[in-house]
Amino acid sequence: PSNADDNGTSPVIRKKLMGFVGFANLPNQVHRKSVRKGFQFTAMVVGESGLGKSTLINTLFNTTLYPPKETLPPSAERPSTVAIESISADIEESGVRLRLTVVDTPGFGDFVNNDESWKPIVENIESRFDSYLEQENRVNRQKIVDNRIHACLYFIQPTGHSLKPIDVECMRQLHTKVNLIPIIAKADTLTDEEVAEFKARILADIAYHNIHIFQAPTYENEDDEAIAEAEEIASKIPFAVVGSDREVATPDGRKVRGRAYPWGVVEVDNEDHCDFVKLRQMLVRTYMEELREYTNDVLYENWRTEKLLGMGVIQDSSVFKEVNPAIRIQEERIMHEAKLAKMEAEMKMVFQQKVQEKEAKLKQSEEELYARHREMKEALEKQRLDLEDKKRRIENGRPLTPEKISQTGRKKGFLRT
Ligand code: GDP
Repeated sequence: PSNADDNGTSPVIRKKLMGFVGFANLPNQVHRKSVRKGFQFTAMVVGESGLGKSTLINTLFNTTLYPPKETLPPSAERPSTVAIESISADIEESGVRLRLTVVDTPGFGDFVNNDESWKPIVENIESRFDSYLEQENRVNRQKIVDNRIHACLYFIQPTGHSLKPIDVECMRQLHTKVNLIPIIAKADTLTDEEVAEFKARILADIAYHNIHIFQAPTYENEDDEAIAEAEEIASKIPFAVVGSDREVATPDGRKVRGRAYPWGVVEVDNEDHCDFVKLRQMLVRTYMEELREYTNDVLYENWRTEKLLGMGVIQDSSVFKEVNPAIRIQEERIMHEAKLAKMEAEMKMVFQQKVQEKEAKLKQSEEELYARHREMKEALEKQRLDLEDKKRRIENGRPLTPEKISQTGRKKGFLRT
């Protein structure tokens, strides 16, 4: 039987093979290549400080990505501001390398006024999209580094009430840009019934506010086991978790990761005690690739479309055909030239104005100079006339005043006293 393929051009014929060709090995090729290249995964943790974010990350990846706080000198304590920091680590399991990056938002929600404390977080997510888009637009796209956030663990305080307004607002800001995974922190502080009720209330809040959280996808041709797994994971959301990077001894003598209380031990890896195992299964074992794919195909793609539309780039091919690039460039050139001409005219005008001002100033000082010159000339003329008059009188032998006689006598050496 033959059927037309998606674009309806060439028919596809289904054939049975007569012998072994070898393309059954394709998945192995992909496997080998992926293992060689390694994987990149970036998770973000959001929530108030002290909710156990660093502890949980250490627990999740079984590594001390964050040094225990007690070992830090007081000056090195992480600041309680909405400052974003990221830590990367190369971890390896059975020969598979993972470059894990955790982006932390220490102290989120700690202020009296937390109105816009989600802002730097959203900006951080978008700047990562920006950087990816910039790399995609480069001439050489060989080595694209994917720093986008693939999952955002949102830590909810174990209040037992419902979501706080700041949680609702923050999730609403984030859900279109990241895979949101809500988590009830420090679940060991609530009883089982309280956890169940709290979960129901959180889910109701999330639904009421139309917040989209990451859902484990199910595919049509998947086996029952995979579907059951997805359903089980989905039934645990929001994950009530307990974190601990220390081993404690249980009453029956086992060494487990957990938290010891006078009445017993809460085991991190025990599914009866908390949802940590399911969270890890979702984040690492089963859906890490789905999280990466959803980030790339849906979240990033939507953001990119919006951004490019905002910049005036029309992506729809039917519209694009009408906008001939050559005409567009021509239009842009004309606009640019017009702008240049306008700038030149403005500069000319300013120049002329400046010259006129300077000329006026020069003229004024010239006139002032002339006036001063005239004044001096007149004064000198007057002095000359006076002297001439004096000379004439002396020559005419007019009697001199006694003072003048003494001056004249002294000068000639007649008078000696
Ligand atoms: P962060 O500020 O959110 O990174 O919080 P930390 O991971 O530094 O944890 C703050 C404190 O909470 C530490 O004393 C942890 O030992 C404790 N803690 C972490 N996880 C849990 C948990 O699941 N349950 C309880 N009861 N305490 C926890």
